[in-house]
Amino acid sequence: MTVEVISVGTELLLGNIVNTNTQYLAEKCAGLGLTMYYQSVVGDNEERMTASFRQAFERSDVVILTGGLGPTEDDLTKEVCAKVLGLPLVLHERSRQRIADYFVRTSRKNITENNWKQAMIPEGAIVLDNDNGTAPGLIVEADNLSVILLPGPPNELKPLFEGKVVPYLKKRSPFTICSAMVKLIGVGESRAETMIKDMIDGQTNPTIATYAKTGECDIRVTARAANEAEAMELINPAVEELFKRFGDNIYTTHEEETLEQTVVRLLKEKGLTVTTAESCTGGLVAARLINVSGASDVIKSGFITYCDETKHSILGVPTELLESYSAVSEQVAEAMALGGAKAAGADACLSVTGIAGPDGGTEEKPVGLVYVGCHFGEKTVVREFRMRGNREKIREQAVVQALDLLRRRLITDMGE
Ligand code: ATP
Repeated sequence: MTVEVISVGTELLLGNIVNTNTQYLAEKCAGLGLTMYYQSVVGDNEERMTASFRQAFERSDVVILTGGLGPTEDDLTKEVCAKVLGLPLVLHERSRQRIADYFVRTSRKNITENNWKQAMIPEGAIVLDNDNGTAPGLIVEADNLSVILLPGPPNELKPLFEGKVVPYLKKRSPFTICSAMVKLIGVGESRAETMIKDMIDGQTNPTIATYAKTGECDIRVTARAANEAEAMELINPAVEELFKRFGDNIYTTHEEETLEQTVVRLLKEKGLTVTTAESCTGGLVAARLINVSGASDVIKSGFITYCDETKHSILGVPTELLESYSAVSEQVAEAMALGGAKAAGADACLSVTGIAGPDGGTEEKPVGLVYVGCHFGEKTVVREFRMRGNREKIREQAVVQALDLLRRRLITDMGE
């Protein structure tokens, strides 16, 4: 089944907003095993929208239109879509009532006349109630085509897609498509791909594809089958084989689980607390951990000690160490991790010190040299990295390596 995405909005063409909806939808559709050949953006112009929709409706089985469902004059997506499909717009009573209720619920007083435009739907459309806004999502079915209209704001589009469109697409597809996401750290994408080249080359069902992220690599295993149980029978042996090849480098096989969630989960399971002592990452490690809701059970605090003075005064790093080895050194990373754990009274502490650039590198200590430390139990472990990329990339990689070091220690030192 082929699917195509058209984002509507002149602000997208002008670069005023980033087209995150298409990226989100593309990733989700790939996860559902749907084939996507085209994505496009069209401005709020009736003529160009008509041409763009017509072409998409002819060549794809499912067309997702995002944006332009609002109440204003230039919100034309639904109107143009109905015209191209030859359908009249009719009032949908439940949506009219929901719009009225939404205004009461959000304490907005003035419903303007044009708000009711959002309750008009192409005749026969399936209405997807939108709990986060006034424009409902819509599915219009015509012959072998499904056109899915979703509002532009991501906080409205995503819940509608997950909650209503995914079940619809699963039902429409002649197969059940299931996938597992195997997430790795410590093996770059090209090496990962080489390590599983035989699996990638040799298989069509399940299919196996790698995706690189900063410091991480994901492998998606997707199978098509008559039902979920049969799809999982195809997926499970491939996942087992990936575990044989990548072992502890795999931190999860759950699509939604992030690295920080894995770390917080492990800390919670073991009843441990953590703190951070950061230099070049300036609080990013703590921020990633605090991304996880409920992280307060395990995170004590976070220290940002960017200069030598605070490394000494807050973390107790001996001045002699800073003078003899400099702040970016294995010895200082070790002392930072130990000192941070003591200062916070935490079970574990992650430390990061490095040269993120673009200035500050020397021949002996070049830009990209980063030490990541982890104090836990009686032991402090430090890893040295030579990272590539700009300042932002180096700092992002340092965060990933720090979280991963703690993850590995939690599973190996605690005998999991
Ligand atoms: P509304 O109900 O808010 O009027 P709409 O369906 O008319 O929704 P638009 O007016 O096209 O949507 O866009 C509203 C907002 O949604 C934009 O200002 C932008 O913040 C966000 N948005 C729209 N399209 C995208 C996109 N492709 N990617 C990310 N954000 C988007």
